[in-house]
Amino acid sequence: MFQAVWGAEPRGYHKYPSGDWMSVEFVAVSPYNAIARLSLPEKITIYDSTLRDGEQMPGVTFTTDQKLAIAHALDSMGVPQIEAGFPAVSDGERESVRRIAGERLDAEVLCLARTLDSDIDAALACDVDMVLLFIATSELHLRYKLKMSREQVMDNAIRAVDYAKDHGLRVSLSSEDSTRSDVDFLLDMFHAAEEAGAERVGMTDTLGCAGPEAICYLVRRMRESVKVPVSAHLHNDFGLGVANAVAALSAGAEAITTTVGGLGERAGNVPLEQLVMAITHLYKRNIGIRTEGLTDLCRLVFESARIPIPPNQPWVGPNAFSHESGIHVAAVLNCPMTYECLNPEKVGNRRRLVLGKHSGTAIVRSRLHERGLEATPEQMCEIVRVIKIRGESKGRVSDHEFWEIARDVISGAEKG
Ligand code: MN
Repeated sequence: MFQAVWGAEPRGYHKYPSGDWMSVEFVAVSPYNAIARLSLPEKITIYDSTLRDGEQMPGVTFTTDQKLAIAHALDSMGVPQIEAGFPAVSDGERESVRRIAGERLDAEVLCLARTLDSDIDAALACDVDMVLLFIATSELHLRYKLKMSREQVMDNAIRAVDYAKDHGLRVSLSSEDSTRSDVDFLLDMFHAAEEAGAERVGMTDTLGCAGPEAICYLVRRMRESVKVPVSAHLHNDFGLGVANAVAALSAGAEAITTTVGGLGERAGNVPLEQLVMAITHLYKRNIGIRTEGLTDLCRLVFESARIPIPPNQPWVGPNAFSHESGIHVAAVLNCPMTYECLNPEKVGNRRRLVLGKHSGTAIVRSRLHERGLEATPEQMCEIVRVIKIRGESKGRVSDHEFWEIARDVISGAEKG
């Protein structure tokens, strides 16, 4: 079964210690993905909201130049839709959205707007490809935020779709807090929005408080009531963002909001890189996004946001392909597929063999070999012993320290 899924062994990896395996490409995900695969829709659209929901992360703000650079990076990777901002927020925000919309990107440029004429006017002034209208639908939001009845919400929403359409804008209508809203009210609103000319309707798990089955249920109900594509905007409060996105797709949603690195309100959104990698490698669907640029994209966005990439961030974090444990390193040096299911170049990251308290002799032998050095078994043990002591007291042992230790042990023996 494994051979059938993986094909032949990649050539070259067994050539250790020449280092040839460093550049070997492989996909070694679980073969059970192929046996129990969900069906995903024919067309999947990622609409990335790093510049809008991502920037709403507390403490994060991007300059217009940073936003332009991020928009270009998303575009060059093949992201088909970019939500560039919320023009009603400020003059600066409007300027950023207008400039991004004027860049003639391959990606379509979208912006957010409430169901207010003034917000739609601001979107019009930015000359975007599509406006993402939203209005809350849950009783909590109606009572404590909007102070509106359901009838008023419905009127507002449909009037706004009409207004935007009358002014030549393409429209998507989303309900905010859909996962805590009455489903019949939601479906009535989406049905009316479709009649009014909305080309997409969206459900949102604004609080990230629904699980995959609940998302499936809502998306399925929407798919049964409207003909236009359904989108899903999902948050990660229970850490289920990606799982919910896959659930939404499996129920027929065709557009998913992502943000780079999952930035966003509270626990953030569905991370672009995680969703794209899952679709590409677990579901074997090519959605036209060049994954090799993901790590650089994350670096650009996190640097612009002035926050470090968490070390254990899947795919793009510095630890995503790092190995320290002696057992793991020894195996990886023989064949990296033992502890990596994809080679790091697939996401533009790199493999790091880290020296520390868990190190064993394999990494020492491999490092010495790089410089054509040999050590006796006793010297090897001594080098490992010193690395473990240093690692235990301060975490990692740097390259520089390693060569110092190795030199001391080997030359010490010569003197002795
Ligand atoms: Mn959101």
